[in-house]
Amino acid sequence: MKKTKPSTIISSRSEGGPPRPSRVIFTDLDGTLLSADTYELGAAATALQVCRQADIPVVFVSSKTRAEMVALRSRLEHRGPFVSENGGAIFLPQEAWQKPPGFHGDGPFWILAMGTPHPTLVTVLQRAAARCGATVRGFSSMSLAEIIRWTGLSEPDARLARMREYDEPFRIENEAPPLLRCLEDSVAAAGLTLTRGGRFYHILGDCDKGRAVARLMTLYRQRQADTLFAAVGDAGNDLSMLRAVDCPYLVRRPDGTHDQAACFEGVVCTDGIGPEGFAQAVHIFRERP
Ligand SMILES: [Mg+2]
Repeated sequence: MKKTKPSTIISSRSEGGPPRPSRVIFTDLDGTLLSADTYELGAAATALQVCRQADIPVVFVSSKTRAEMVALRSRLEHRGPFVSENGGAIFLPQEAWQKPPGFHGDGPFWILAMGTPHPTLVTVLQRAAARCGATVRGFSSMSLAEIIRWTGLSEPDARLARMREYDEPFRIENEAPPLLRCLEDSVAAAGLTLTRGGRFYHILGDCDKGRAVARLMTLYRQRQADTLFAAVGDAGNDLSMLRAVDCPYLVRRPDGTHDQAACFEGVVCTDGIGPEGFAQAVHIFRERP
C-alpha cells in the first residue's frame, strides 16, 4: 500500500460540516452501477440515495473518459472524487479537498495522471497487432457510428467516449487464445498493460484501477484512519480494485454468470446482475460491523 505524507488532506466538510465518512465505496460503472445494456441506474439509484443519506462516499472508478464521467456526475449530482480510464487519472473536487502532493490543478479538480498518454497507446497497439497478426479495431480507428453500434451509447455520449486520454478500448476481430497471449506479451514488453472490460479489451499504461484506489484510500485514511473500504465490480479490469479493499463485491453479468477473471478467495459474489448486485453490495456493506 502506498503511503504519502500525513496531514496534507483536510476535508472542508470536516470543519463544522457533517461527520467525516468512516466507510467508502469504490464502484465500477458499466455493468455494475449502470446496466450493461441500458446504461441506466435501475436498482442502484435507491442504493446511491441510501449512501448519500448515510454519508458514505461512492467513488466512481471506470474505464470511461473524464468527459463521460464529468457528464455523468452532473446528471447524478455526484460530487465525489472519481477515477477515469481504468486508473489513468484520479480527480479530486477542489471544493472538498486540499491539493495532495503530486496532483495538479485543472478546472474544478486536483488531478493525478497515472497513465500513459493515449497517442502512445495507439502506436504500441498497432505495432503489437501487426507483430501478432491480430486484426484490432480501437476507438481511435472507429467511426462514431461504429462506436455507437458496439457500445449502444447515444451519439452525444459516444462523442464523450471518444475523448480518450489514458486508455484505448479495442476489439480483436480474429480473437484466439494464442493471439491474445502474443498481444499481452507484446504490450507488456512495451511496459504497458492489456486488460479486459465488459465489452472491450483495453490497452493502458503501467496503471490500473487498484493502484488508483490504493492512492485514494491513503487520502481517505488521512481524514479518518479507521475507514472501511468496499469495491464493487463486474469484470477482469476490476480485479485489482477488488483486491485493494477490505470488502470486495462482484456482481453478475447480464448472462447471469460471474466473470471468472475477477473471482478470487474472499470476494463476495452477489446474486443480482449489474445495478441490482450493486444495491445488494451496499446493503451487505452497511450491515457489516
Ligand atoms: Mg464493468
